[in-house]
Amino acid sequence: MKIINKTGQKKIDEAVELFWSYLPENLEQLNSIPSKDYFYQCDQTSDEIASKIKEFFYNTDSTKDITLVLYKPFNRWSSAIGYTDEPTRTIHINSRKLNSLEILDYSGHIFHESLHVMGYTHSFYNSKNRPFTVPYFLGYLMSGDKTIEELLDYKKPI
Ligand SMILES: [Zn+2]
Repeated sequence: MKIINKTGQKKIDEAVELFWSYLPENLEQLNSIPSKDYFYQCDQTSDEIASKIKEFFYNTDSTKDITLVLYKPFNRWSSAIGYTDEPTRTIHINSRKLNSLEILDYSGHIFHESLHVMGYTHSFYNSKNRPFTVPYFLGYLMSGDKTIEELLDYKKPI
């Protein structure tokens, strides 16, 4: 599949490019951790998650493409980077945040939102465990905000 940037923003073009160049490394890191369930709110092993991600992003079916568009939230103080409409596989990016965020933040955001399209979820409200859900952790890993070591140190609540 492809990630189609319809935002007209060069920063987002660069974020998509970095996303594709870092994805193999992220998958390798996922595969390198012991095969047990580390992620909060997910029962799959890291190996299972890695192979589902590979299947999702490296399939050649163009009907599975993800589209990126811009939106301007009514509330100018909205802290959201963006949101995803899962049925249409469209990621809506908040135009009011474009100047304050880094390219890699958007690479991570694209990963996070794509993981929602894949069906991975997290709680609406933040908690100390939420950064260790599949969308948050892998988004942070992509953007460089978290390392695989932090996941290994994490104690998933029983
Ligand atoms: Zn999310």
